[in-house]
Amino acid sequence: MPSIRVLPDLLVSQIAAGEVVERPASALKELLENSLDAGSRAVAVELAEGGQKLIRVADDGSGIPGEELHLALARHATSKIADLDDLARVRSLGFRGEALAAIGAVARLTLVSRHASDPHGWAIRCEAGALSAKEPAAIAQGTRVEVRDLYFNTPARRKFLKSEATEYAHCEEAFVRVALSRPDLRFTLKHNGRLRWSLKPAEAAARIGELLGEEFIRASVAIDERAAGLRLFGLAALPTYSRGSRDDQYLFVNGRFVRDKLIAHAVREAYRDVLHHQRHPAYALFLELDPEAVDVNVHPTKSEVRFRDARAVHRFVFHVLNKALARPQAGAEPAPS
Ligand code: ADP
Ligand code: MG
Repeated sequence: MPSIRVLPDLLVSQIAAGEVVERPASALKELLENSLDAGSRAVAVELAEGGQKLIRVADDGSGIPGEELHLALARHATSKIADLDDLARVRSLGFRGEALAAIGAVARLTLVSRHASDPHGWAIRCEAGALSAKEPAAIAQGTRVEVRDLYFNTPARRKFLKSEATEYAHCEEAFVRVALSRPDLRFTLKHNGRLRWSLKPAEAAARIGELLGEEFIRASVAIDERAAGLRLFGLAALPTYSRGSRDDQYLFVNGRFVRDKLIAHAVREAYRDVLHHQRHPAYALFLELDPEAVDVNVHPTKSEVRFRDARAVHRFVFHVLNKALARPQAGAEPAPS
C-alpha cells in the first residue's frame, strides 16, 4: 500500500469542486448567493453555451477591498463567519469560503471588484487554481465574476455535462430560485446574447407571478401565518391549478432554497384531502425562523437543513397549509375525484 500523503491544495479544491460545482448551474448559484450576501440591489447574469463557455455575474454590492481580492479565491477564506458562534447563527447564504476556490480550480475565473474604500477597482485571475497578480481595473462599486470554460482541465467532469439546452435549463432554474427568494432586487439573465429575464423589484406575489406565471397566482391561496417563532408565507396552488412543464415546488428556509423531506412531507399531508393522489402540489413557500433553530451546515451545497425542533416545524407547516387549503375560496374549487 502506498504511504499516506497530504494532497496538494489544487487537488483538494478540485475534489471539493466535485461537490460544490456539479455543473454550470451550481457555479451560477454560488455566484448569485455571493452577490446577495454582498447586499446588492441589482444582479446581472450572462451565460454562453449553457454556462459551460461563460458564466458572468455582475453586482452592485459591497465589493471586495483590493488587498483582500486574492483571499476571496483562497480555500476556506470567508468574510462571513469568524467562529463557531457565528456559524450557529449565520444569516448569510455562504459561510464555507470554498465556492470561489473550487470554481477557480476547475475553470478560468476572473474576479473584478471595487470596494467603496478603494479609489478604483482591481482584477485578479485564477486559472486551474493558479492566481495572477492583481491589476487595477475600471469598475463601479460592486463585483463581477467571470467563469469561462468550466472543467477545461478536468475532462472526466466535462464528460458528465449534458446538452447546452439542458445545462441552460438548470442555470435558469438556479436563477429563478434566487430571483424568487429576493423579489426586492433587480435581476437580468442573458443567454448567448439574448435577454431571457428582466425583473424589476416587486412584491413577492408579483415576482412569483412573473416567474411562475399568472395562472399560478390565480390558482393559489396566499399564506402568511406566524406562531412560536415560526413564520410561513407565500402561495400554495389549489388542486385546480393545471401545472406547466416546470416542477413548481419552491421552498425557502430563511431565504435559502432547500429540499427538505420533512417539510415536503408536511406539505403532502396538508394537500392529501384536497389533491388527487397522482398530482403533485405546487407552491412557493417561505419559512422563517431563528437562524439558531436551524442547522444549514449539513451539505456542501447547503440545499439541506436540519431543524432543532423538527416536529414543531412539521406541525406548523401542516397546520397552516391545511387551514389555508380548506378556506372557502379554496373549498369552492371542485376537487378532482
Ligand atoms: P463564502 O461565500 O462561503 O464566504 P466564497 O468562496 O463564495 O465563500 O467567497 C469568498 C469571499 O469572497 C466571501 O466571503 C466574500 O468576502 C467575497 N466575495 C465573493 N463574492 C463576492 C461578491 N459578489 N461581492 C462581495 N464579496 C464577495
Ligand atoms: Mg459564497
